[in-house]
Amino acid sequence: MTSINTDKAHSNQDQSDKVLEAMKNFAEQYAKRTDTYFCSEPSVTAVVIEGLAKHKQELGAPLCPCRHYEDKEAEVKNTFWNCPCVPMRERKECHCMLFITPDNDFAGDQQDIDLEFIKEVRDSMAS
Ligand code: SF4
Repeated sequence: MTSINTDKAHSNQDQSDKVLEAMKNFAEQYAKRTDTYFCSEPSVTAVVIEGLAKHKQELGAPLCPCRHYEDKEAEVKNTFWNCPCVPMRERKECHCMLFITPDNDFAGDQQDIDLEFIKEVRDSMAS
């Protein structure tokens, strides 16, 4: 029994790592496509990508992690705040500071982020 539970825990961890990597790849590609940059403080980027991955895994869609929702499932169906959200797609406005235009003081010079760094930030938040 213990080993079955341990296997399950491992497979859940594998699954969440895969989703995290998919969101990291999405964020990198989308930043390059939109000519936006990650925050000069990389832990901001890591926290947002981790939040998107958590929603993707729990809800099936990367609902924006920087907002409060009364009903997350309804918001996912509504699609407005599924990343990239409508304000980002229409006006390059990302209030999470994941995608930052170069003229913004918070913009760094990176459009890539290390997966291991995101995991470190995730693990430090969990403890
Ligand atoms: S504000 Fe929009 S683009 Fe930025 S992380 Fe949230 S959903 Fe994505």
